[in-house]
Amino acid sequence: MTLKQPPRFAVLQLSGCAGCEVSLLNASEWIDQFDLAFMPLVTSAYDVPEVDVLLISGGVRSDEDLHNLRQAVKRAKKIVAVGTCAISGGVANLGNRDEVRRLFMSQTERHDLPRLLPKSQPVDSFVEVDLFLPGCPPTPELFMGALLGPEDFVASKTVCQECGRK
Ligand code: SF4
Repeated sequence: MTLKQPPRFAVLQLSGCAGCEVSLLNASEWIDQFDLAFMPLVTSAYDVPEVDVLLISGGVRSDEDLHNLRQAVKRAKKIVAVGTCAISGGVANLGNRDEVRRLFMSQTERHDLPRLLPKSQPVDSFVEVDLFLPGCPPTPELFMGALLGPEDFVASKTVCQECGRK
């Protein structure tokens, strides 16, 4: 008998605060049941490989975010927008483009700031999304439902309880 391979998943982090990733890490039940292929906080992989499920956190705030998003979704069978930032643009919209640029420049010596979009935009403004996990961040239980729940849970779209977007 051949053992079934655990589904592979990756986490793409756009512009956000990493709180979604911390919540996912608190949902520790997935560790034995999924193959985590990419998550910058905890893996050393350089880029998103081919995966079954791609979790995307953070809003699309810069041309770099947009590039990374478009490349990553090509390699995933199922796309999940995770948290308020990915669903609605979220907290990355608290400052306008000039304010964000000024803050960044005041905090770093770097001058290679990616080109900022006029505002942070939701992931589904640019790519098809299969499932939305609401919350800031989504609870560990919601992550578990999306990763390990019945197929129809993973396949169906839900409505963000915060902003009402599908
Ligand atoms: Fe952070 Fe909340 Fe945005 Fe997740 S949804 S990245 S926790 S601000």
